[in-house]
Amino acid sequence: VPLAPFTDLLAAARRAGSAVAAFSVYDAESLVGVLRAAAGRPLIVLISSQVVAEPGGDLVVAGMLAMAERAPSPVALQLDHARDLDVIAAGCELGLGAVMADGSGLPYDENVAFVLAARALAAPRGIAVEAELGHLAGEEEVALAVDPGPLTDPAAAERFARETGADCLAVAIGNVHGIYRGAPHLDLEHLRAIAARVAVPLSLHGGSGLAASAVAGAVAGGMTKVNFNTELRQAYLARTADELPGARDGARLLALHRAQADAVAAVAAERFAVLSA
Ligand SMILES: [Zn+2]
Repeated sequence: VPLAPFTDLLAAARRAGSAVAAFSVYDAESLVGVLRAAAGRPLIVLISSQVVAEPGGDLVVAGMLAMAERAPSPVALQLDHARDLDVIAAGCELGLGAVMADGSGLPYDENVAFVLAARALAAPRGIAVEAELGHLAGEEEVALAVDPGPLTDPAAAERFARETGADCLAVAIGNVHGIYRGAPHLDLEHLRAIAARVAVPLSLHGGSGLAASAVAGAVAGGMTKVNFNTELRQAYLARTADELPGARDGARLLALHRAQADAVAAVAAERFAVLSA
C-alpha cells in the first residue's frame, strides 16, 4: 500500500468526527507493534528528530518507510518536533510525508518565520507541515513529571494558522509532554474556542497519561490528531526488563523482540479502541 497523505488522513478523520492516532516509534519492534495494533486502521507514525540525528538514523528511517508501505493500514510518517531547518530538510530528503516545525519555544514572529521557512522546503515536495503555538511543558524523549504551562490563545491561534499556512496546528489546553505531575485537566471549553477560530486540524500532544474519557472529550472538542509516546516507551522498557533475564539464558534475542513488539501493540490497541469508540 502506498503511504497515505498526512492531510488526507486528517481530513477523513475530521469528516468522521474522529481523530487519527499518532504513535512515536524508535525501532523496528515498536513500529511492528503499532502496525499490528492498527490492524488496517489509519494511523500516523511519528519519528523523533533525535532518531534521524542518531548514527545510521537515515537507514532506520528508510527501513521504517519500507515497513509502513507493506502495512495493510493507510499510514503517514511524520518527523516529530524539528526545531531547526537542517532537520526539516533532512526529514524532507528522507521521504517522510509530514514534518512538525516546532517553533513554539520562539517569540511569535520568529515562530511564524520558522514555519514559513519549513513550508518553503516541504510544500514543493507535497510534504505537510504541522506547527505549534503555545509551548508545551515537558520533554519529548525524557519523561519527567511536569505541570502544564499557559494555554494557547484562541485569537493568536487563528492569526498564526492564517499567517503560517500550516496544515495542522498543535495547541496547549492543559496537556504536557512526558508525565502529568497532578491529575491531568484538559480545558475543553478553551479547546472549543480555539477550534471555532482555526480552520486547519488541531493536534493534541501528550495523549499518554490521559484517561480514555479525556481523550474522547478532546476529540469531541475538535482535536483531529492525538499523539501517544511516553506510555509506549514505558511499556516497551518495562517488558524488556521483565524478559531480559530469560532472553539472556540462551541468547534468545528474537523472543525479546517479540515481547517488545507485543508490549507496544497492547498499549496502542487500547488507544485505537478509545479513538474509534
Ligand atoms: Zn509532541
